[in-house]
Amino acid sequence: MIDLALLGCGGGMPTPERYLTSLLINYKGRKVLIDCGEGTQVSMKLLGWGFKSIDIICITHGHGDHTVGLPGLLATIGNSCRTEPLTIIGPEGITSIVNGLRVVAPYLPYDINIIEAPEDSLCLTFMKEGLKIQENNDHHVNETIVISTLSLDHSAPCLGYSFYITRSPKFSVENATLNEVPKILWNKLQKGDTVIHEGKTYNPAQVLGSKRKGIKISYVTDTRPVEVLPEFIKESDFFICEGTYGDDEDFEKAVKNKHMTFREAAALAKTGNVKELLLTHFSPAMANAEIYINNAKDVFENSQLGEDRYIKTLSFTD
Ligand SMILES: [Zn+2]
Ligand SMILES: [Zn+2]
Repeated sequence: MIDLALLGCGGGMPTPERYLTSLLINYKGRKVLIDCGEGTQVSMKLLGWGFKSIDIICITHGHGDHTVGLPGLLATIGNSCRTEPLTIIGPEGITSIVNGLRVVAPYLPYDINIIEAPEDSLCLTFMKEGLKIQENNDHHVNETIVISTLSLDHSAPCLGYSFYITRSPKFSVENATLNEVPKILWNKLQKGDTVIHEGKTYNPAQVLGSKRKGIKISYVTDTRPVEVLPEFIKESDFFICEGTYGDDEDFEKAVKNKHMTFREAAALAKTGNVKELLLTHFSPAMANAEIYINNAKDVFENSQLGEDRYIKTLSFTD
């Protein structure tokens, strides 16, 4: 089971009705935050999921509505007595953006690692001290979160993110017996450890069954609908996508400002064959997004509008 909270659904500037677009993923009590505009920590405080357990912050791009909340949030995480390092992932330029913002939050009781424009997917595993990036991408045994990124088409270097939560295979008595694994090793091997016993090496694959389907979550803002996006978001269980403009009449504006309309986001959801679309990053000029929801539903029925602190729980299907 995995919980998501959309902390805000606004784009451009926070308003009394909408905080800025940001998403919090909570898996087994550890957290990944995506984007951190002005006021993100206010919405987090209202949500009440805590600050200390944020291990990873993914930033889509450097625009203020996605980054300006960072120094305040980092200080609050410090005040929550965190001492374990925290990782920030972002597009080209993220190092200087974070260092610039850190001028006003220079002293933190934990280290910050920055990963700028990762070329390969990153694999997060659960350690005692939180989610850690694992060098070796072998995620056959342990439950992990695999983060993939895609370069988007916006007025600044921008990354789309997908999170694939893997599921460990079931224990297989049949395989363990077939591979003549002594019973006293079963438990250890199931947990993912390789064991040497009486001079012989045993590995987890010898006691486990086949792979099981995980959960895929995709988060895409701010961008035009680039050609490779349907492949990137393909078969997501949950697709969070910008719909800066609801009205089809605003198409020209969307092209000019490198954003999307509801209809364009829904077309991506349809082509990518996702299960569910949640629209977010609404223009502050669009006071009432509800009146345009059918522009999305016409194309992709399972579309809905994001709301501040909208919560979704996703479960493994088998
Ligand atoms: Zn934005
Ligand atoms: Zn932007």
